Amino acid sequence: MNKVFRCADMGFKCAWVATAKTENELMILIKDHADKCHNLKEITRDIATKVKSVIKDQ
Ligand SMILES: [Zn+2]
Repeated sequence: MNKVFRCADMGFKCAWVATAKTENELMILIKDHADKCHNLKEITRDIATKVKSVIKDQ
């Protein structure tokens, strides 16, 4: 089972979707994307909580 993250679920007008085997691997991809595409240099605890709430199993 994979973990799936859709950037649009965070409220961004963004079609980026990421999948990974674990939540930790997915968070690494999300941090990289957030920095490059949304100019989010830091994933705060609040953002991380929201990110985890929209991660789904696939
Ligand atoms: Zn995005």
